[in-house]
Amino acid sequence: MKHDRVFDPCYGQAIELSDGIRRLTARNPGPFTFHGTNTYILGQDRLIVVDPGPAQDDHIDAILNAAGDVPVEAILVTHTHADHSPGARLLKAKTGAPVIGCSEHRAARPLFEEEINPLDASADRDHKPDRLLNHGDVISFAGLGIAAVATPGHTANHLSFEIKGTDILLSGDHVMAWSTSIVAPPDGSMRDYMASLNNLQELAPNVYLPGHGGVIRDAKPYVADLKEHRQSRERNILAQIDKGATSIPEIVAVLYANVDPSLHPAAALSVLAHLEDLADRNRVVANGIPSLRAEYKIP
Ligand SMILES: [Zn+2]
Repeated sequence: MKHDRVFDPCYGQAIELSDGIRRLTARNPGPFTFHGTNTYILGQDRLIVVDPGPAQDDHIDAILNAAGDVPVEAILVTHTHADHSPGARLLKAKTGAPVIGCSEHRAARPLFEEEINPLDASADRDHKPDRLLNHGDVISFAGLGIAAVATPGHTANHLSFEIKGTDILLSGDHVMAWSTSIVAPPDGSMRDYMASLNNLQELAPNVYLPGHGGVIRDAKPYVADLKEHRQSRERNILAQIDKGATSIPEIVAVLYANVDPSLHPAAALSVLAHLEDLADRNRVVANGIPSLRAEYKIP
C-alpha cells in the first residue's frame, strides 16, 4: 500500500486548489491527524465551509479571514470527531450559517460497558446539525450543487460530499492519501467501510479532497488498493487464528511486531473490526459477541 505523505500545511493560509476551491489546514497535527484537519472553502461570491475542524479559535479566525467580506452560506460536516465538527459551532456563532450534514454521533454497534475504548475521547457528542443530510440528498449553496454520499466505516455517520458537475469528492476521513483510515469499534465498522469503498467506485468523481493531507488525483485505483490492503490484513488475521492464536493480543503481537507498542491499543481495535466483520460472515466464531477480550477460532 503506497501512501503520499508529501504535504505542506501552510498554516493560516487558504491554498487555492482550483477555481472556487480552497484548503485551509488547522494547526492540530498528531498521529491520527497528520499535519492537521483540512477545512475546505467552496465558492466565489458566496461560500460553503466544509469541516471547520477542532474548537480552535485561531483556525476559525483564519477561516473568517479567508472569507473576507464574502458571506458564508452553509457549514458542512463530514463526521463527528473532535478534529472535524466542533469548529462548526464556533463558525456558526460568527456567521449565522446553518450546520448541515452528518447526524449526531452514534456508535456502529452497542458496546459492553467494560470494553476499553482508547479512542472514545475523539467523539464530538455535542454536534447537532440544523439540517441532516441522507445519502443522495443534493443541496444548493454558493451556486454549487453538493450531493451527500453516505460513507460509513470510519464513523457510522460519515458523509462524503460530491461537488456536482465536477470530478471532485470531499472524502473526509474515509479515503486519505497519507494513511489508511482508522476503522475501529465502537465508532467504526469494517463491513460498512468496505461497502462504502465499493460504493465510491461506482460514482463519477476521481479526484478526492480528504480531511487530512493532500489531494488524491487518481482515486479509483487508490480505492482498489485500500480494499486489497484490508483484504490482505484479513488474510493475515485468519492465518494467525489458523496457526492457533485465539485472542486479539496474540494476533496484534505478531502482526504489529514492528509497530510502536504505544499504537497497539489502536491496532487491537482495528483487529477487532476485522474479527467482527469475519464473524458476521461466519469466517470466524467468537465465544460471545466479538470484543477485545473474546476468544476466536475458525469454525
Ligand atoms: Zn479526522
